[in-house]
Amino acid sequence: MKILSVDDSATMRKIIALALKGAGHSVEEAENGKDALGKLGAGPVDCIVLDINMPEMNGIEFLRERKKNPAIAGIPVVVLTTQDEESLRAEAMSLGARGFVVKPFVKEALLAAISTGT
Ligand SMILES: [Mg+2]
Repeated sequence: MKILSVDDSATMRKIIALALKGAGHSVEEAENGKDALGKLGAGPVDCIVLDINMPEMNGIEFLRERKKNPAIAGIPVVVLTTQDEESLRAEAMSLGARGFVVKPFVKEALLAAISTGT
C-alpha cells in the first residue's frame, strides 16, 4: 500500500516509515494536516497514518477537512497519537477515522489497524 504518514516529529516519521516499509508498504510523509492536504492534492494514497497534536493544522482539523473534500474523503485514516483519551478516540472515529493507535506503538498494532481498521 501507499501510505501517507502525517506527523510533526521527524523522529516519529522515521520510526513510522521504518515500520511500514519493513512490512512492504511505500511511505510518503507530511509534517502537519495542511502539508498533508497539499501532498494528497498531488496524488492519491491508500491509507493515511495521522498524528493529532501538530502545528498549522492538527489531526482533528485534518479529519474535518478530509470529510468535506470528496476527492479524499474515502481514504482510510488510522490515528496514531500519544493522547490515550476515550473522548479523543470517539471524536476521531466520529469524523471517519477507522483506527486509533496509541504511541509508543507496537508495530503489529499499527499494521493491523492499517490492514483491518481495528
Ligand atoms: Mg505531534
